[in-house]
Amino acid sequence: MEFGSFAAHAADVEAADADLEVVDLVADLFAEAGDDLVVVARFVQGRVFPAHSETKLDIGPRLCYEALARAASTNVTADDVESRLAETGDIGEVASALDLGGQAGLGAFGGGNDDDALTVADVYGDLEALAAAAGDGSQDEKVTLLFGLFNDCSGEEARYLARLVLGEMRIGVGEGTVRDAIADAFDVDVEVVKRALQVSNDYGLVAVTARDEGEAGLSAMHLEVGRPVQAMLAQAGTVTDALEEWDEAAVETKYDGARVQVHWDGEDVALYSRNMEDVTDALPELVEFVEEHVEPPVILDGEAVAVDDDGSPLPFQEILKRFRRKHDVAEMRDEIRVRLHAFDCLHARGNDLLEQPFRERHDRLASVVDDESAVSNLLVTDDPEEIADVEADALEAGHEGIMLKDPDAAYTPGDRGKHWLKRKPDVETLDLVVTGAEWGEGRRASFLGTFLLSARDDREDTNGEFATIGKVATGITDAELADLTDLLEPHIRAEDGQEVDIDPAVVFEVGYEEIQASPTYSSGYALRFPRFVSVREDKTPDAADTIERVERLADQQS
Ligand code: ATP
Repeated sequence: MEFGSFAAHAADVEAADADLEVVDLVADLFAEAGDDLVVVARFVQGRVFPAHSETKLDIGPRLCYEALARAASTNVTADDVESRLAETGDIGEVASALDLGGQAGLGAFGGGNDDDALTVADVYGDLEALAAAAGDGSQDEKVTLLFGLFNDCSGEEARYLARLVLGEMRIGVGEGTVRDAIADAFDVDVEVVKRALQVSNDYGLVAVTARDEGEAGLSAMHLEVGRPVQAMLAQAGTVTDALEEWDEAAVETKYDGARVQVHWDGEDVALYSRNMEDVTDALPELVEFVEEHVEPPVILDGEAVAVDDDGSPLPFQEILKRFRRKHDVAEMRDEIRVRLHAFDCLHARGNDLLEQPFRERHDRLASVVDDESAVSNLLVTDDPEEIADVEADALEAGHEGIMLKDPDAAYTPGDRGKHWLKRKPDVETLDLVVTGAEWGEGRRASFLGTFLLSARDDREDTNGEFATIGKVATGITDAELADLTDLLEPHIRAEDGQEVDIDPAVVFEVGYEEIQASPTYSSGYALRFPRFVSVREDKTPDAADTIERVERLADQQS
């Protein structure tokens, strides 16, 4: 395909204003691209190499300005290019107005704007050479190569070449457009294209496979150890959301580190960041850990966490000092230790597991890693109290909190769906008076366990009495239960079986997910998922929160 034809299509796409029209135009471009389809499918998104490729273009703005200035037929400097850019804000606009091709005989393909039209393959070949240039003199080599390309460009070609090399294509073609255009151009189901993109993450490869082999070819595409996929992402959500949406929730520690995807084929370990950057060299201890403890071939998803000498997690900033480090890796390794917490398994023993339910992928994960401290601790439950216990343990151990996952959901690369929820921290807490409790059972029989909570009732005709609003039993460790029992026992007014009435004396700070209207308690409200935070030793019951505040908070929620 001639590069001029690519540029003309790009101009049409840029001028189109409806999404459907854009998809149609990109589909036409793909249908005409012939042997250049792989490259065109990337160029149209403003990418030269596949997202996961180690080859990077690395053209700084200055280098581009110099190449443009050199190719201009009038006397223009790189500074002039820069100041014109400051006026227009679009390097494409500046490049197309420069009247390029002044240096006849010096172009990359036989000289200035002569009869040999520039092709997509020419452009790609030169950009590959440019990316490969390294060492002394490589800057000059890069400027010369890019100058040669610009020198062969018409105004329209220069517009899109300049934007391409600076990663600023901006013609409104995102990943979704390319996906839909592949389906349209080659008459294949869009869901099949989507899956092929998820497993390969390579738009060029998927476009060519769709054209040459149709749906059968796309369906046969699979994960490859060594080729990263996009990470599945999480939404903010609550325990209530999780338990309403699914029968049970899978609860895991939320580790406060950096996402890492592990690829291990038995010969090499490769580690990728959330953006699919190769971070292998920065984390040698993870490489060694994987070689020693993980059965290949495998692709794992997890978190790299910085830890102190006792293995306790360090703040997020610490892992950042290690994560993309290129120099002094050995020194920093002694200073900041890093551990792997794997939480998912995408491929094991030759099988892709993306479509398997999460609980099965997690079982597989546990079976391929022989050190369980590197595997996330998973609990599948429908009991909010158990979830709260996991959260309390995670917070106590210094982790960020918990993740809630649909135990039956597939792994969908790149999706931020509702199957993974990062539990939102409580926005507000309430200070509530303990007015009752229940003795525990079994191991906890000698402790008060479930605590009845009340707010001050300052509504008319209530004389500042206390009105019940909920019970809290979660978020409390055994040691805390013993202390709370000691604290409350002197205030017990009456007992009936396991139930006790308690005089208002002790104030708890309590977190919750939501306040609901409810006939269950005398306040007319109930707390969803209440969680013990602390004893407000500095507060007496007359300083506890009022029903009026509860009402206000309930109104704000809606
Ligand atoms: P996001 O990734 O959602 O754009 P973010 O980078 O700020 O936002 P968070 O909001 O903290 O990340 O939450 C999601 C991240 O939590 C994941 O990308 C992952 O790195 C991390 N994480 C820690 N533990 C887990 C776990 N058990 N399961 C999934 N992700 C986890």
